[in-house]
Amino acid sequence: MTRLWGVRPRWRTDVLGDFFCPGCGGDRNYRRQHGRRWLRLLGTPVVPLGPVIGSVQCTSCHGRYGVESLEQPTCVRLGAMLRDAQYTIALALLAAGGTAHRAAREAACTAVREAGFEDCGEAQVLAALAALSGLGGELHDAHGMSGGLAVELHAVLEPLTPHLAHQGRERLLLQGAAIALADGRYLPQEREALAAVGRCLDLPQPRVGALLEAATRAPY
Ligand SMILES: [Zn+2]
Repeated sequence: MTRLWGVRPRWRTDVLGDFFCPGCGGDRNYRRQHGRRWLRLLGTPVVPLGPVIGSVQCTSCHGRYGVESLEQPTCVRLGAMLRDAQYTIALALLAAGGTAHRAAREAACTAVREAGFEDCGEAQVLAALAALSGLGGELHDAHGMSGGLAVELHAVLEPLTPHLAHQGRERLLLQGAAIALADGRYLPQEREALAAVGRCLDLPQPRVGALLEAATRAPY
């Protein structure tokens, strides 16, 4: 039964897109809407009242959420970010340790393939490394990494960090450690590269040190 009088908003859709719905817990389509509250007579809007705050509606569960829900990456996006992170860490560690050892090249290529770049062979990895190391010319940051790789590491890891649990961030660091350890003990440049990875992932420095030590005792 429609009540005689009532106040309900009337929504207008601004944008459509996909997001991670906090209600459904998965990737869904959304409508981003703004609205105005209306005084209704028998359900028909008759008098406009104040505007209501913009919101996002899931087209599956019809739940309404604040626009800040769009900041959470979709599962597809998060997967791609994670893949890029694994790839970039592998390149950074290979660059730090040098490409002379076959074991290091193989460990880096395995990490890249496991990240989801299944068709990526050693030639592609080395070409990508050369391209990134070349960026920034001879400029190296304080930690010995080429400018291009250091920038790439920040650009790829920092947006991902807030969306990963502690274990996920530690796992990324350990994947880098495995590449560094593939051709023997950590070189000073490899430690520096791993420290840079730890900083980008917002891991406390003592924890990074402990994880790197533990990795030497339990090799991949
Ligand atoms: Zn939903």
